[in-house]
Amino acid sequence: MNVRGEADTPEPIVLVQGPALTAYSFGEEHPLQPSRHDLTMSLLRDLGWLDTPGLTIEEPRPATLTELLTVHTLPFIQAVQTAQSIAKGTRPESDLSLYGLGTEDNPLFPGIHDAASLLAGASLHAMQAVLDGRAIHAYNPAGGMHHAMRTRGAGFCIYNDIAVAIAAAVAAGRRVAYIDLDAHHGDGVQAIFYDDPRVLTISVHESGRFLFPGTGETKETGAGDGAGACLNVPLPMVAGTEHILLAFDRIVAPAVRAYRPDIVVAQTGCDTHHADPLTDLTAGMELYPALAARLHDLVHEVSEGRWLIVGGGGYDPADVTPRAWTAFFGTVLGKETADVVLPESWRRASRAKGGDPPLHLLDDPGRPVTRPPGPSFLSELDDIEAGALALSQRRFGPSVAGV
Ligand SMILES: [Zn+2]
Ligand SMILES: [Zn+2]
Repeated sequence: MNVRGEADTPEPIVLVQGPALTAYSFGEEHPLQPSRHDLTMSLLRDLGWLDTPGLTIEEPRPATLTELLTVHTLPFIQAVQTAQSIAKGTRPESDLSLYGLGTEDNPLFPGIHDAASLLAGASLHAMQAVLDGRAIHAYNPAGGMHHAMRTRGAGFCIYNDIAVAIAAAVAAGRRVAYIDLDAHHGDGVQAIFYDDPRVLTISVHESGRFLFPGTGETKETGAGDGAGACLNVPLPMVAGTEHILLAFDRIVAPAVRAYRPDIVVAQTGCDTHHADPLTDLTAGMELYPALAARLHDLVHEVSEGRWLIVGGGGYDPADVTPRAWTAFFGTVLGKETADVVLPESWRRASRAKGGDPPLHLLDDPGRPVTRPPGPSFLSELDDIEAGALALSQRRFGPSVAGV
């Protein structure tokens, strides 16, 4: 028996991966760099972790128009197709900024529709593996486009692969708990399911007072039938690892336990790290294996292990992002991440892409001092417990027998 009390057979885990996924690229000057995926895969490979028994690697196909329409409007999808034609030079230029396209965050590129459809298809593939029972956990590191809305793209996101995957689970009659651990608020997924009681969305993020997209306040708790199926934990700047883990333990885990989902979906953006150039949360590398361990225990407790993991933000592409995601997924695979020495082959590959990697997987050079949670954050957690969490538990928690 292993630590979770299961028989000692390997867990079936699917990793969705293929070379075409790196085609999702806004160009060399853009913060979102697809090299982070190549370097994540090569680090997992160089450590030998892709040979873990039970793990299979599967290649995705693009999401179809019908599948995209489960989340997005036809005019938006047509605008993305138009954007692709404009970028290829087969259509005259036109202003698509109404759809969040051709903006500074989402500049056009020649494969924009095809690449975004493939990302959505990859998360759908991973979800399908869990729905079919082929996998207990499934991972699409290229997914996590949580800012995309029904009618427009935003914040480096075109199609909302997470929402497309969740919609497939809901269509199969499953209830889903979505946990967003990116430094930015998971506004797109929240908005798409805001009035839907079949999807619980929880986001832990740097407060919108300081960071894009500006939403994710504690008072956003769902609407209509979805009242109580939405929770937000905004964090102060320079919060660090301790605040994030405390938010997980006091708000995220109790909300998910009360909701009793059939499937858990986790967005694992690692732009919470102190070296990330876009954010101010200053977490340390130890956060990622700690979150993975907590989530892993939680999914085996609440959803018989059914768990879809997607990537997300992470803007130190040659060093921190691949290490954070390798530490996260390695923990899911049951690997010990402390004291793991980075293979020299990988350190060379990282340096070739502009990285300056340390000796060990979890080393944290130049880490600033972060503050332990102070009275104002603790009282904010008290308020969320008494407000959004209590509402969610009343609405979705186990009812009292005989009532
Ligand atoms: Zn497991
Ligand atoms: Zn982010």
